[in-house]
Amino acid sequence: MSNFVSGRHFLQTPGPTNLPERVLRAMDRNAINHRGPEFGALGREIVSKLRGVFQTDSATIGIFPASGTGAWESALANTLVPGDRILISRTGQFSHLWEQMATKLGLDVVALETDWRRGADPVAIAQALEQDPEHRIKAVCAVHSETSTSCMTDIAAVRDAMNRARHPALLMVDAISSLGCADYRHDAWGVDVTIAGSQKGLMVPPGLSFTAISEKALAAARAGGARRSYWDWEPLVASNKTGFFPYTPAINLFYALNEAMNLLAEEGLSNVFARHNRYAQATRMAVAAWGLELQCQDPNAYAPGVTAIRVPEGHSADKLRTVILERFNMALGNGLGRIEDKVFRIGHMGDLGVLSFTGTLTGVEMGLRAAGIPHNEGGVQAAMNYLATANG
Ligand SMILES: *Cc1c(COP(=O)(O)O)cnc(C)c1O
Repeated sequence: MSNFVSGRHFLQTPGPTNLPERVLRAMDRNAINHRGPEFGALGREIVSKLRGVFQTDSATIGIFPASGTGAWESALANTLVPGDRILISRTGQFSHLWEQMATKLGLDVVALETDWRRGADPVAIAQALEQDPEHRIKAVCAVHSETSTSCMTDIAAVRDAMNRARHPALLMVDAISSLGCADYRHDAWGVDVTIAGSQKGLMVPPGLSFTAISEKALAAARAGGARRSYWDWEPLVASNKTGFFPYTPAINLFYALNEAMNLLAEEGLSNVFARHNRYAQATRMAVAAWGLELQCQDPNAYAPGVTAIRVPEGHSADKLRTVILERFNMALGNGLGRIEDKVFRIGHMGDLGVLSFTGTLTGVEMGLRAAGIPHNEGGVQAAMNYLATANG
């Protein structure tokens, strides 16, 4: 067996995603003094650009050297105390993990069930809030793009449900796999805490987490919250103005992030979202032609950055992924939690050109054949027919 595999590895997981050349080159330089003027200017520039990506004018922007999971903890620790009640919809593995963290932190979780094949139900959220006249629920938590199921939750509709119930809970949204892929409006949707990470739509290596914090959430943090130190938001308020951090920031990841946000601005956010939608649509056309089933059953909730696909009963999605990795040098996302081995996930988020994308589908179609998964031919053809004439 030879050790060298010719050709580029296809990293088609829904995070981490492929790193653009310009992002790689931007990181490839010495660190600088994080207390010096050059870093301060970079820090301020990054805060300003992140506000653009979150579509917020004035939210406080938190940046922690952590994966997205760290930003979850900062959101809960700054605004809630053990015993506080939160409402969360069980939409998939990531809502499950967030719920688990909340329970470990001593919060009292009220969970709304779903079948993991659609987003959170705003009607069910409104009902739960209406049954809480004493306002014991302190936060409503929602995952915008459930990366495990490829279903979106309509955050504007969740906010409407909260407003209709006249409920004062904070709205906390995990946008880890939607920011940079789907239209996301922190201000317009009245989100109090938005949580994101570097390694998905933002095209930056893993290691940075982000939070956009509303005035209301900041006030809640100042008035209370749990004991915290590293995760405390207060120093961020100063950081946003000075560009400096109370500890050593992940300097080279800042270079990467700055360049990645330049790319988003040059392409134009609306074009970025349209590109993701095209690939998602093309993927679904391929899946339909293959005769396979989407995990997401709500056509209004299809995620732009990832598509979870079910393998027929009696077949193994993990075996399919292994065949595709070994034969075609491509990594796909696995099924998580209760849909382990039942689904595989094609990541089509971040830096992806149309030929890399169709190459991805080609690898999947060859893999289906090589792994002996029953399917029809012509998925790639269906996607190509669409993409050849789709705008942009
Ligand atoms: C990837 C992901 C997470 C976890 O983020 P980490 O960076 O791995 O901690 C949480 N939520 C969603 C929706 C994700 O896609």
